[in-house]
Amino acid sequence: MQSDRNPERGPMASDVSLSCSCGAVRGVLLAVTPGNSSRLSCMCDDCQIYAHFLGRAADILDASGGTDLSYTTQSRVRIAHGSHLLRAVKLTDTGILRVYSGCCHTPVAHVPSPKLAFVGIPHAFTQYGSVPAERDRLFGPLIHRLQGRFCHGELPAGAHLSTPLHLQLGASVRLFWDTLRGLHKPSPFHDGNTPKVAPRVLAASELEQLRQHVPTPSPLAQPRFARSCS
Ligand SMILES: [Zn+2]
Ligand SMILES: [Zn+2]
Repeated sequence: MQSDRNPERGPMASDVSLSCSCGAVRGVLLAVTPGNSSRLSCMCDDCQIYAHFLGRAADILDASGGTDLSYTTQSRVRIAHGSHLLRAVKLTDTGILRVYSGCCHTPVAHVPSPKLAFVGIPHAFTQYGSVPAERDRLFGPLIHRLQGRFCHGELPAGAHLSTPLHLQLGASVRLFWDTLRGLHKPSPFHDGNTPKVAPRVLAASELEQLRQHVPTPSPLAQPRFARSCS
């Protein structure tokens, strides 16, 4: 079993079922622990635009406009059923690959690169997406709220206006180490460097139309490190 040789598997790890809302796309996320999930809420403009592109912003975004995501590696994601239903989009030419289910528009994975281990799994794709207590037990509580300059309403307590440099550096070290260990393979989303599902790139006009759903950041909220997910 591939899960048994996964170097990330510890004694307290759980395999968490994955499913789109209608159940046609299903899989499993291997070896989940609160410690390896690095759960965060991303309130960036790109993640909000994506939720509106899917037509499911009310399901995906929390009250502040955040998308609940967990860190994992490509090697820990298995799509067992319905992979022919997967679709992909990029908000721009250089944006990350965003994989979703074509059947019911559930976000499946945020995949920055075929050469990097990192994958963001939206909690809408986990079986525990709507059961907070179980979600907290498996994935741990939200530990970071990022890109709060795009939030709806008041900035949540403890939220960051952008992604602070120390968090970016910490994530980069982990990403480098996981990639060095070869955890970008096997990938359910790429054959070599080629996406298994060719992404559609949004037209500039479509992107601008979707951007109308995102609050304009306050001119007072000009963070030094302002990257969104793209
Ligand atoms: Zn579905
Ligand atoms: Zn984002």
